Amino acid sequence: MMSASILQPGQIEQPAGEIPFVRLPERKTLFRQRASRLRGLADGHRIADFLNFMAQLADAQQDAIDTFPKVFLPDASMLDLCHEHGMPPLPARTWARNPAWRDVLKRMLAVLETEATPQVRDAVERLDAMAPAELETIADNILAQRQETLDLALAPLVAAALQVYWTHMATTLGAEAFGRGGIANLCPVCASSPVASVVRIGGSEQGLRYLHCSLCSTEWHMVRVKCSNCEASQRLAYFGIEGARDAVKAEACDDCGSYLKIVYMEKDPLVEPVADDIATLALDVMMNDSGKPRSGPNLMLFTAGWV
Ligand SMILES: [Zn+2]
Ligand SMILES: [Zn+2]
Repeated sequence: MMSASILQPGQIEQPAGEIPFVRLPERKTLFRQRASRLRGLADGHRIADFLNFMAQLADAQQDAIDTFPKVFLPDASMLDLCHEHGMPPLPARTWARNPAWRDVLKRMLAVLETEATPQVRDAVERLDAMAPAELETIADNILAQRQETLDLALAPLVAAALQVYWTHMATTLGAEAFGRGGIANLCPVCASSPVASVVRIGGSEQGLRYLHCSLCSTEWHMVRVKCSNCEASQRLAYFGIEGARDAVKAEACDDCGSYLKIVYMEKDPLVEPVADDIATLALDVMMNDSGKPRSGPNLMLFTAGWV
């Protein structure tokens, strides 16, 4: 059973101007908080084992970003050029990746292997045995969202290392390096699609809606009651699973025919877009049954085979 409610355009819009457009993730706590949220959601959950494994992966990501090596970053003149043309400075699909990301992946795999199930151990061993070029091809396919080409057991592990790499670059450059991107529904840092949007609480961000990048976890502002995919506002509806928490809804648009989840901190201050998205797979199943595809990926959810 689904329930729907319709909000009117302009109902909750904020005055423009004083709104922080880009919110970079807090690198000291991002992945640790995600891990902790995943463990909290796992309690009594139908897919508790999977959520607990995802928590382990997020912990490995935090350890990896805490010790990430120095890598090449765009300089001031490159950043200026990007600003001028509304281009994201760290574009996921075309960025020349530093090989350091593969060392970080290897270190994460070594940590995961110590407590792994036979399935995870198999995935870790296969990745460990791969040549650099094979890992780069998987990375290319993940970043270009060519989901049909991906091995579902391997992709989330590789994606986890790529998330660490991009989050490291974004937070090292700092928020002032990024302006508005040319395309409202893509991340102004890396041009990836959002995993979900979040309605925030507290201070100048009270009630504001931000899209949360599926790759670098940067958040960028978009007014509420507007489709995060096509920006239409006339034919939106919000769906939840009856009897479940209302902190997570699917925002569905009849103009472009897609949906993306929206999480509400005012309903639960601990919501975390990636974690809460994974824990509400049942909502995706219902939305897919209604014939609407998701407009953005969760890079941890190439793992359908493990659930
Ligand atoms: Zn991004
Ligand atoms: Zn739309």
